[in-house]
Amino acid sequence: MSQMRVRFAPSPTGFLHIGGARTALFNWILARQQEGVFILRIEDTDAQRSTPEMAKEILEALQWLGLDWDEGPYYQSQRMALYQKTAQQLLEQDQAYPCFCPPDETKAQQAKAREKGNVWRDESCRERAADKACVRIAAGESHSLRFRVPHRGQIIFEDQVYGRVELDSRNLEDFTLLRSDGSPTYHLSVVTDDRDMAISHVIRGVDHLSNTHKHILVHEALGGQPPIHAHLPLILGPDKKRLSKRHGATSVLKYREQGVLPRALCNYLALLGWSPGDDEEFFPDGDLVRRFALERINKANAVFDSQKLDWMNSQYMRHSSSAELALHLEPILVRAGIWQDSWGKDSSNNLLPTITLFQSRLNRLSDFPQMAMPFLTDQIDYEKEAVQRHLSLSDPNESLRLRNSLESLASEYAQVATFDLKTVEQVLRTTAGASGFKPGAFFGAVRVALTGKAAAPGIFEVIVTLGRKRVVERLIRVLQILQ
Ligand code: GLU
Repeated sequence: MSQMRVRFAPSPTGFLHIGGARTALFNWILARQQEGVFILRIEDTDAQRSTPEMAKEILEALQWLGLDWDEGPYYQSQRMALYQKTAQQLLEQDQAYPCFCPPDETKAQQAKAREKGNVWRDESCRERAADKACVRIAAGESHSLRFRVPHRGQIIFEDQVYGRVELDSRNLEDFTLLRSDGSPTYHLSVVTDDRDMAISHVIRGVDHLSNTHKHILVHEALGGQPPIHAHLPLILGPDKKRLSKRHGATSVLKYREQGVLPRALCNYLALLGWSPGDDEEFFPDGDLVRRFALERINKANAVFDSQKLDWMNSQYMRHSSSAELALHLEPILVRAGIWQDSWGKDSSNNLLPTITLFQSRLNRLSDFPQMAMPFLTDQIDYEKEAVQRHLSLSDPNESLRLRNSLESLASEYAQVATFDLKTVEQVLRTTAGASGFKPGAFFGAVRVALTGKAAAPGIFEVIVTLGRKRVVERLIRVLQILQ
């Protein structure tokens, strides 16, 4: 079999959104699985709606997702001559004809015909002799170029997801190839490029399913096999309406900002329309590429569930090394104003141990700065309720006893030879035993004293991660506050 060549062909008229990213992902996975070629093509022929900034953003989002391309990016705006050439060929073969109908009027007539379930066609343009058309063109008359849909029964293609799709050729209007300003339509540029780039499989959103008949006809008119088509089901929000901004972030880079790991997002996106056929959902380390199969793409619409994405993200966080997470956390910590440049240079700081401490408790990396603040900075926000409950004891005798116990803990910790988990635990348990408080209550007080929060990971790990200096300083600071 010849090599698989697939493409992702976004229009840079907006951000890369969830739907586009899924299309890119499925193409990329198949290319990697089949040792094929993944091509990136920016469809920016619509000069008014496309911007270079959006194109740049799309590339950045793809790079962040790890969807590296083998060819391109090609920009359609730089390939205009090629589309003219295709148009010329179709005209010469009499498979396209100049249409002199004014665009505005045509639009109105098309709409009217559609309302009645009919197809608009201007027979006088369609049937006009070529020499007569040439005279009018030479006289400078405005015209577009339309494809002459052959009226030859059913147009049929086998979609890999939706099955056999048929359309009576009489129900297809003679669509535009070149507008009256000479610019190519999507139908012309997409087929020209898919042929020029020898695309073997077109995998794209189901919103293009109804365009495919047109593309098949153009492919056939130009002489050649159309590519294999696979259309991907719609992605809906939880309210079963098409996913949009109303449902929260749809831009891929927003998920980066919110601390979703790119591998987790890809794994989650893969499940939007595809399933492996068993209950497995977590596909780390290349499993996605190994397990994916075009045949298992579902035509039922997929529903985007951000809680499930959070769950997936938490799975990936658990399975990542702290060093890997640190790379993703850097921009988030920079934004939170916590990042210190020295952290990137050597590892003898608190960052990696703090990540280890929290990585199984996070849904999104963006929760990290808030949790990690007391470990990475000297700034603690004491939660009022936690202080009231664990430190501000109303009985003066108990309050004094707590202060004395915290003081002795501080001095023990200042003196112990090593500050490892075993020692730290031993000292805390002994001090708790001598304090007269129940261990849980004393640990709670220490936890609030050290982190400002009542909920935190295991107290011994907290103490070791904070390190001796911070622990002793904080215990003393709390003693001063309590007095
Ligand atoms: N540029 C089209 C879009 O963004 C893609 C068309 C295609 O994949 O054929 O929807």
